[in-house]
Amino acid sequence: MTSRSRWSCFVPAGMLVLSSFSLVTCSHPEIQRGGAGGSGGSSTSTATGTGGTGTGGTGTGPSTGTGGSTTGMGGTGAAGGAGGSDAGSGGQGGDIIVDRDAGTDASIPPPKMSCGDSPYSDKWSPGYVQDPAVLSRVQAVVGAMSLTEKADQMRGTNPGNGQNFADIFRTPDNPNKSIRGFLFRDGPRGVNLASQLPSGKTGYSTSFPAPIARGAAFDMDLEYRIGLAIGDETLASGNTMILAPTTNILRHPAWGRAQETYGEDPFLLGRLGTAFVAGAQEYLPACAKHYAANNIENGRDSLNATMDEQTLRELYARHFEMMIREGGVACIMAAYNLVNGTKSTQNKHLLTDLLRTDFGFKGFVLSDWWAMPGGQNASLPADTRTANAAPAVLAGMDMELPWSLNFQQLEAITGAGRPLAEADITKAASRILEQKFRFKVAETNQPIGLKPARTTLSGQGAIETNADNIKLAEEAAEKSIVLLKNDKNTLPLKRTALKTIAVIGADVPYRVVNTDLATGTIRFAVDTRTGDLGSSRVFADPAKSTGPMAGIQAAAGAGISVVSGASASLADNADFVVVMAGLTPEDEGEEYTGAGDRKNFSLDGKSGTNAQNNLIRDVALKNKPMVVVLEGGSVIDMPWLDQVPAVVMAWYPGMTGGTALGKLLFGDVNFSGKLPLTWPKKWEDEPTFSEGTTTAMDYFLGYRHFDNKSIAPLYPFGHGLSYAKFDYKNLGVPCSDVTKNGVVNVTVDVTNSGTVAGDELVFLFVSYPGATVRRPAKELKGFYRVSLEAGLTKRVTIPLRIADLKYWDTAGSRWQVASGPIEVKVGPSAANLPLTDMLTVK
Ligand code: BGC
Repeated sequence: MTSRSRWSCFVPAGMLVLSSFSLVTCSHPEIQRGGAGGSGGSSTSTATGTGGTGTGGTGTGPSTGTGGSTTGMGGTGAAGGAGGSDAGSGGQGGDIIVDRDAGTDASIPPPKMSCGDSPYSDKWSPGYVQDPAVLSRVQAVVGAMSLTEKADQMRGTNPGNGQNFADIFRTPDNPNKSIRGFLFRDGPRGVNLASQLPSGKTGYSTSFPAPIARGAAFDMDLEYRIGLAIGDETLASGNTMILAPTTNILRHPAWGRAQETYGEDPFLLGRLGTAFVAGAQEYLPACAKHYAANNIENGRDSLNATMDEQTLRELYARHFEMMIREGGVACIMAAYNLVNGTKSTQNKHLLTDLLRTDFGFKGFVLSDWWAMPGGQNASLPADTRTANAAPAVLAGMDMELPWSLNFQQLEAITGAGRPLAEADITKAASRILEQKFRFKVAETNQPIGLKPARTTLSGQGAIETNADNIKLAEEAAEKSIVLLKNDKNTLPLKRTALKTIAVIGADVPYRVVNTDLATGTIRFAVDTRTGDLGSSRVFADPAKSTGPMAGIQAAAGAGISVVSGASASLADNADFVVVMAGLTPEDEGEEYTGAGDRKNFSLDGKSGTNAQNNLIRDVALKNKPMVVVLEGGSVIDMPWLDQVPAVVMAWYPGMTGGTALGKLLFGDVNFSGKLPLTWPKKWEDEPTFSEGTTTAMDYFLGYRHFDNKSIAPLYPFGHGLSYAKFDYKNLGVPCSDVTKNGVVNVTVDVTNSGTVAGDELVFLFVSYPGATVRRPAKELKGFYRVSLEAGLTKRVTIPLRIADLKYWDTAGSRWQVASGPIEVKVGPSAANLPLTDMLTVK
């Protein structure tokens, strides 16, 4: 990682002419968070700034994260660094105050420049540069290993056809060479210590909001800090790899694991996945999963996802490229499903052509658990195992997990006249050992990890001293809960006007399999919701957790009575009603729990009882002020929407979700989450979810699909209300034209013209009016979270990396950034991008 300085001073490209603004000094940390680098210097040397240095924007962002320098304009050079950003800042880029009195600034657009190539870097993009010392160490160790020792690096437990389900999270140690095996743990919303929990242990750890919620926070730095926290707790628990992040595209909201990913857009997934990796990998290696196109859960092991090459590269693989190149992720998990007819675990096109040749991946590939052909079958004949193992290794599969089933054959199939050469085994073992040495988890006689964990593991097997992480989980919940509807300012709740609040939620039983807590009842009014009961489940300490009732009570304070229960009649004596509703671990979740995909978007969609919709209708009939708060991993139908004045999407808000909810409902904290997915009016508006064993995955998905078919969603990607009001003006695109590796620091002034402070999420999309090949109507290429007191205007800078506009040129079999016009569109959601400007890519 590069060093990170907390505050920086910068002048966005082209702004030195705006002498009326005091932009250069930044003694006030509160008014300046990070900064964007200077844009590429002018190739024509037009003196728009201090000019003449020939260095262009001198942004120091790449190595220091401090953003571009104030002296960075003019000259012929490329480029300022991209902005570093302080903790709490949302996207890449930066913001500065331009006006304390809303609406009075008069900005004169600066002259546009001709912009050249610019390096880009930020604190969440450490990349991976191989260390020659590590490589020579690996070479020495591998050189001294027998074929079996090398093969042992590549396989899990239970050789000899054992089927021990209690031993599925490790690879064996090599005592001869003092090399550790890996100890793996999931996952995306916290370290899962619940799996294989010894009796008498609690397995508690911090349960963060599910990733789909963190997608709604659109906050790079938050995701980085969550990666740090989860990496820390994983290491504290003695494990050496975190099986996260999950970055599958949410192609359809019915996917049973929708909650585990960040949303429907590859740019969003790539950026947030990169930030998570950057954080976790300050401690230990992370494994991005599930590569590729694991978008349907039921029957995942044998499903075939078909798609054309442009769709594969741009939509289903591009974010993995970002996590590899920008995040430097150590490991990629190959998925269960087939892609274009070949198992992902044996798919040379995926594992070599794309991962290594195209994306430059230097880490190693492991299989999802039993994702090699044959699954859990421990009685496969030797020739079947051989037939499975050889093409997998040749395709680029380095490690079979969790058991050594097919890879048991490695020794037998390696050598002269056999399918594999010893060099193939050496290569795979070397890749694995390289990551072990890189993260200092290789040597049995050494402490593990790149730095010591801050949290600790108690004798009860619980993570402790994690108060900061629990607070971080609360911050994440605050930033990710989305206010969908708020007619007549139903919210925020006004303490002085309330005597009694009823928190009403159904008690809904669920049943799952193959996991702990296999049966239970979700008491929606009081229970803390952390997500499904699959591999990413996390047990949070109940004493440190807060459900909705407790959180609302805490926020209400002593003067208000808060009652809770499952009956609509509780509303009769209340001045305000909060109805909690949502999905259970049976409604959606990982396939092996029996939950899997959703059949429809309904509440109680599997049981078909309609109990929760009936409860909401019964409460609505009482005509009390009310809000419905939904908990779930994605879209939920709201047949009662017209009868209910306010609706909140809380996702699975994690162990302190109730505290966050209470503060948000009372307006102690403002809502700022926005949808990382398109919310359709009805199921039929989405593409066909599953077409049986083979599903064609179309180029257009999410908002791209709705644009392409001209279907209006119920709520667009990026929808989310606030108690504040934000106005956008003065779009600044400082370049008239730009070269293909340029970075254009797009600026926009965002004003909080409301009466309370709030964060606004600003989106930058581009479209390609001159496109001669298939492109979407628009694509997300930047986002930024800006905090604004009432009355304040800030100029937000969002770096637009022109290389991100690349498309896969199928005919030429290569990535291309098309020359020609692009339209830059900025605004508060995918459906509301009022500010536009043109730019030419040279
Ligand atoms: C899941 C993975 C997980 C693995 C290990 C599989 O069922 O698909 O996401 O990492 O189990 O628990």
